[in-house]
Amino acid sequence: MSWEAPLAERVRNLKPSPTLAVDAKAKALKAQGVDIVNLSAGEPDFDTPDHIKEAAIKAIRDGFTKYTAVAGIPELKEAIAAKMKRDYNTEYSADEIIASTGGKQVLYNIMQAILDPGDEVIIPVPYWVSYPALVELAGGVPQFLMCSADDGFALDIDGLASMITSRTRAIILNSPSNPTGAAYSEKDLEEVARLASQHGFYIISDDIYDEIRFDGKAPANVVSINPECRDRALIVNGVSKTYAMTGWRIGYLAGPAAVVKATSKIQSQSTSNPNSIAQKAAAAALSGPQDCIQTMNSAFAERKEYIVSRLRGIDGVKCVEPSGAFYAFPDMSAFYGKKHAGSTISDSLTLADYLLESARIACVPGIAFGDDRFIRFSYATDMAVIKEGMDRLEKALGELE
Ligand SMILES: *Cc1c(COP(=O)(O)O)cnc(C)c1O
Repeated sequence: MSWEAPLAERVRNLKPSPTLAVDAKAKALKAQGVDIVNLSAGEPDFDTPDHIKEAAIKAIRDGFTKYTAVAGIPELKEAIAAKMKRDYNTEYSADEIIASTGGKQVLYNIMQAILDPGDEVIIPVPYWVSYPALVELAGGVPQFLMCSADDGFALDIDGLASMITSRTRAIILNSPSNPTGAAYSEKDLEEVARLASQHGFYIISDDIYDEIRFDGKAPANVVSINPECRDRALIVNGVSKTYAMTGWRIGYLAGPAAVVKATSKIQSQSTSNPNSIAQKAAAAALSGPQDCIQTMNSAFAERKEYIVSRLRGIDGVKCVEPSGAFYAFPDMSAFYGKKHAGSTISDSLTLADYLLESARIACVPGIAFGDDRFIRFSYATDMAVIKEGMDRLEKALGELE
């Protein structure tokens, strides 16, 4: 009898991360010698700062290479608590903090810990690619809240209020946002906090870009705005983006002790502690000198100015001004219906393919983030690369008929 390697339903319905897929395709083309302008990266182009690397090297030399406590070493938890105090003026004790293998694992563990099959999670659109899959892997049902570029991707509070049901377990906020760069206003955060306490659901606050901001505002989340929602706020963060440490894989959760304990149980039976050496490095990142953030942010800010003005300079392209993170998310739908060499650009996928094949620009189609009108361009790369990318984009769009 032939053997077809049967797989579980949950994985048959699971799509691989589209952003990682585009990045892999661009890297493969580059390896073949194709001159690709890669504007698809979801990570800072900077190297991890030296003092952080030194802490890891010291950890290795000191033999800090064994299992640690599942939820992380006290030194790292203290550094996380200090960050929560410094940026959000909120106290968290050791049993209210867990470190995991990246922010993504934190989110995975949270969904496993709080969702029963059929429970609903409200996800504002455009969303980070992994949110729906993380919810579905836990048997949850994503409920999409459309947000409009005309309002700068602000939360539609009335829309949110009308979606809440008895099955609503959580909402996921991501501010500043990947892919839009938008940051929520204090008023909207206040409204979400009010609805969450009225109806009894969690607020999962993915703050991974909280310190990469250009709008002159300090990091803010539901807890800093309204300390009373502390018992329903799950604050997710990590060192990947702020400290250019994507490969180190350290993220964390600060939240109610019961949820932290539940995710710790899941972690203890799945991956155990996050990497011991990376924990030392993350502790050094959070408690060491913070001027590296400013250095990277000024580069991001300069590139943002440039890419947004180039995009807006192209007839038909509309782009909201990002408040933070390192992505521009222009509406490209004015080009849908146009043709090139007999084939029609009909959506974000065909446009992204056209840009890759004809102009050698790698970017991520908006459909990956739940809105087909858009394309995500990352500016976490050299100014020269961004300039070349924008030159090619302008030319390629100009050639459409
Ligand atoms: C990059 C990213 C994360 C998590 O990254 P990790 O490397 O797993 O810490 C989470 N949320 C968003 C929106 C991101 O862009």
